[in-house]
Amino acid sequence: MNYDLLIVGGGPAGLTAAIHARARDKSVLVISNDPLSSPLCKAPAMANYPGLPGVTGRELVERLVKQARDLGAEFRQGRALSVMPMGKSVMVSVENDAVEGRAVILTPGVSRAAPLNGEAELLGRGVSYCATCDGMFYRGKSVVCAGDAPNFEEEVEFLRSIGCQVEVKRLAGLSILGGDGVTGVRNAKGEETPCQGVFLLRASIAPAQLAPGLETEGGYIKVDGRMATNLPGVYAAGDCTGQPLQLAKAVGQGQKAAHFAMEAMG
Ligand SMILES: Cc1cc2nc3c(=O)[nH]c(=O)nc-3n(C[C@H](O)[C@H](O)[C@H](O)COP(=O)(O)OP(=O)(O)OC[C@H]3O[C@@H](n4cnc5c(N)ncnc54)[C@H](O)[C@@H]3O)c2cc1C
Repeated sequence: MNYDLLIVGGGPAGLTAAIHARARDKSVLVISNDPLSSPLCKAPAMANYPGLPGVTGRELVERLVKQARDLGAEFRQGRALSVMPMGKSVMVSVENDAVEGRAVILTPGVSRAAPLNGEAELLGRGVSYCATCDGMFYRGKSVVCAGDAPNFEEEVEFLRSIGCQVEVKRLAGLSILGGDGVTGVRNAKGEETPCQGVFLLRASIAPAQLAPGLETEGGYIKVDGRMATNLPGVYAAGDCTGQPLQLAKAVGQGQKAAHFAMEAMG
């Protein structure tokens, strides 16, 4: 086992969970895009955050990251691509790597991107979320890349370096075409581009795609009073569990999720 607790997402909910778990001496890995790339970091002042009136979004995230690091939480920068309960542990794949923990807390915030037409149907049959994981299957083939992931350019360069013919498209209004496999994409203007693979390189991944079988309601992860989801060893906290999308609720749920995940570990 690599860690007691894995945390997907380095926002206020995930960082609070990490702080709480480290204060109880559990080993913790926070898997996240750069926490300072969060839209929250652009907020000029938090008027309603208890005890720190006027703190900027960036300062709050910086302080939380420092507190978690100082307490001994480890960080792995990158996108978590899938979460798989394995019975007594949970496996999380990060880019083209995998880590194992006794439990995982999902705190990815809200996924602002609606799924594209054809995305769910063709996932794994030409649609991929990770170029460095699946690129080799498309060597010498035509692929389309779209998204806003922080490492988007690197992923595109990787595909070019292994001999893929890459076209970059805007995500908005894109449809993915195909039957048994991907045959092309259609953009918002109705123009079609033939291709054999589509790499959707978004900063965040919708919860139901991140963890197959995860119960959601209106796009939010369903949790019980202990912040447990329907999947064994998988907890969730923060904006991803639904309204209100507010800091105080995110940190409260992060603390609760860590508390109950550790209680279940014994
Ligand atoms: C501009 C702005 C101003 C705001 N002002 C206020 C305010 O004044 N008061 C208030 O109460 N609330 C405010 N909010 C809302 C508040 O920021 C959120 O409620 C809070 O940030 C939720 O915390 P979270 O940890 O659940 O998610 P987030 O803060 O969204 O953090 C999620 C993190 O997970 C990362 N991530 C997502 N998916 C993956 C993945 N697959 N792999 C790796 N990493 C991933 C994201 O990049 C991000 O870093 C504001 C939000 C914004 C954007």
